[in-house]
Amino acid sequence: MTDQPKPISSICIVGGGTAGWMTAAALAYKFHRTKTSITLVESEQIGTVGVGEATLPHIRFFNQALGIDEVTFMRATNATFKLGIEFCDWGQIGDRYVHPFGDFGEPLQGVDFHHLWNQLRQLGLKTPLDEYSYPIVAAKSARFHHPDPDLSKIESTFGYAYQFDSSLYAKFLRTFAEKHGVTRIEGKIVEVDQNAETGHVETLRLESGQTIGGELFIDCSGFRGLLIEQSLKTGYQDWSEWLPCNRAVAVQSENVGTLLPYTRSTARTAGWQWRIPLQHRTGNGHVYCSHFISDDEARSQLLDGIEGALTTDPKQLYFMTGRRNQFWKKNVVAIGLSAGFLEPLESTSIHFIQEGITALLELFPDTAFATSDQEEYNERMGLNFERVRDFLLLHYVATERDDSEMWRHFRNLTLPESLQSKIEAWMHRGLVPSYEFSVFLPPSWIAVFMGQRKLPLAGDPRMGRIPLDDIRQYAENLHSSIRNSVDRAPDHLTFIQGTGSSSKTVPESL
Ligand SMILES: Cc1cc2nc3c(=O)[nH]c(=O)nc-3n(C[C@H](O)[C@H](O)[C@H](O)COP(=O)(O)OP(=O)(O)OC[C@H]3O[C@@H](n4cnc5c(N)ncnc54)[C@H](O)[C@@H]3O)c2cc1C
Repeated sequence: MTDQPKPISSICIVGGGTAGWMTAAALAYKFHRTKTSITLVESEQIGTVGVGEATLPHIRFFNQALGIDEVTFMRATNATFKLGIEFCDWGQIGDRYVHPFGDFGEPLQGVDFHHLWNQLRQLGLKTPLDEYSYPIVAAKSARFHHPDPDLSKIESTFGYAYQFDSSLYAKFLRTFAEKHGVTRIEGKIVEVDQNAETGHVETLRLESGQTIGGELFIDCSGFRGLLIEQSLKTGYQDWSEWLPCNRAVAVQSENVGTLLPYTRSTARTAGWQWRIPLQHRTGNGHVYCSHFISDDEARSQLLDGIEGALTTDPKQLYFMTGRRNQFWKKNVVAIGLSAGFLEPLESTSIHFIQEGITALLELFPDTAFATSDQEEYNERMGLNFERVRDFLLLHYVATERDDSEMWRHFRNLTLPESLQSKIEAWMHRGLVPSYEFSVFLPPSWIAVFMGQRKLPLAGDPRMGRIPLDDIRQYAENLHSSIRNSVDRAPDHLTFIQGTGSSSKTVPESL
């Protein structure tokens, strides 16, 4: 007689980077009143990737689900607020637009605002689309407040995320997870034992000789994929054909000037440069493709574009864009960099961690490890990765730039069918079909298309029914109500200080 499936009684998480501690915190919160034990193994000798500062609004729901208070979290991680990403030099050198966490105006008689704006533009309107978005105007004015809960108000029309130190976030969540019963073991794993019959991972052996067993293993070991790849040989889908950037150099600098509530991404000749302002410093980096630029040149391009004095040495990072063939195989689930990596152009990696944790909790296995759960998980996470890949690639192909080898490379690229059809639907009549398991909703696609000069050839046919004067009046009212409201909003730094979220108010012990 075969054993009856039982609830999982022991979980082992491999890795203590952002992925490891986010997973540990979420599982501990879920299971701390049960008999399930959770162990996390990490090695200080190996360390963590140590970059990753910009996030998406969904992270707020992760913190809220764990009962984490925003002020405490912001103080502990030196966080600032983020209303979107400003893209410089992407459509053409000199262009600037913001991908905001929010819409461009409300639809008028069912017609989306970008169609109305495009019609007015064709008739001579000079005001840029960005000025019809509350979060963009607030971001550019360096102002911030929480969204108004009254959905009828213009001040409610946005979401927000954070810019923070992800190593401090991991440390913060470690305290949280340990308080909720997670056992941390320091040590380097040198051997992974699998069951000879099933191939399931059974035991981890540390350099010290200590062994750690478990029923469910979460691989948060970073790019190396210690369990999912090195032991289970899952295989990797290499997407560098579409997203060829494969290196980054990162450096921190002193804050200079106004504390901006947004991330900046500036397109360069062989990649792009990020600028992420935290409370106490600015994170900078250059993501580039080594086929088109040398490491030395990439480093000097980065350093030439930094305003404040450097506070760290430049750190070199290597990666291959893509994803594991399977994220969940046998009794191992890969979360974080071990699952895959897409360049941080739209701050998606920490979000993938969150998606992985959410899907795991929903499909949480018993000792039978049903194949159907694994298939569902792999399908969902695969779609998440593919859809983000397409969105990132859009930034490189929706452009008029051809001033370097990299930009010319994108001109001749065969796109994934999924992206090609999205672009065709847009160019035809400005439509962005929405789909499931995609973090980026139509307003995000619209922001990039419009911001990068890909204007649709035709508009929404329903627009012809709306008198032109009504459209003009509507746009004018929207523009002035956004401007008036933003002018009354507090500036970003004052808001952080006023809510007590400043890290300067933290006692040493935190
Ligand atoms: C250039 C760059 C910029 C990025 N920017 C952003 C961003 O702006 N926003 C965003 O969301 N994400 C960003 N990311 C991604 C983000 O950094 C990662 O998603 C996040 O840090 C999670 O990493 P991780 O925990 O999976 O891996 P890691 O940080 O690499 O942690 C791996 C852990 O596994 C442990 N480990 C490995 N092998 C062993 C072993 N043999 N024994 C014991 N322990 C072991 C290590 O000690 C470590 O604790 C960026 C990544 C890069 C490369």
